Amino acid sequence: MQPTWQDMHGNTSVHQAASSGNDDVLKCFLSFGTDVERPNARLHTPLDLATNPSTRALLQKALSTVKCKGTTCNHVVFDFVNIRYFCDACQDFFCSKCSTRSWVFEHQKAQTKERPVCRCDACANIIGKYENELQNAINQHEFTIVTNTLSEIKENEIDIDVQMFEEATILERKLD
Ligand SMILES: [Zn+2]
Ligand SMILES: [Zn+2]
Repeated sequence: MQPTWQDMHGNTSVHQAASSGNDDVLKCFLSFGTDVERPNARLHTPLDLATNPSTRALLQKALSTVKCKGTTCNHVVFDFVNIRYFCDACQDFFCSKCSTRSWVFEHQKAQTKERPVCRCDACANIIGKYENELQNAINQHEFTIVTNTLSEIKENEIDIDVQMFEEATILERKLD
């Protein structure tokens, strides 16, 4: 289902996720980019239909973020053209220019990248920095760096590639 899909009442899938109170599905739609202000045929926005407190809080946060927090766009004001994209790392809202959407591995043994993620430029840089550092340390058998980088990643809950994380963890265990 695409975020722009609409039923006969003009409800988008964002309306449906909002009214069902399914925050995970809603976050997924938000990370793909959505116009959260868009009303259905009865002029109800997704927030109007949401009853679950955490769902309401998420939508209210989206609506109260009126400008992109990124710097590439010079803080564009959100509207139906400049829609919001939800960074799942820092849980904030950015425009399309200041965020990147990609697919990552969901599980350690997954063959294909099936988990969609959206990250703002700042979060993408941090995650990329840790992934590079860890991969280099693994390749060069720099075990102290592997251990230190891994503990920093855990401490700061950095959402790095799960398979790289697993490889580093196995390596670390072997050393004990
Ligand atoms: Zn972010
Ligand atoms: Zn922006």
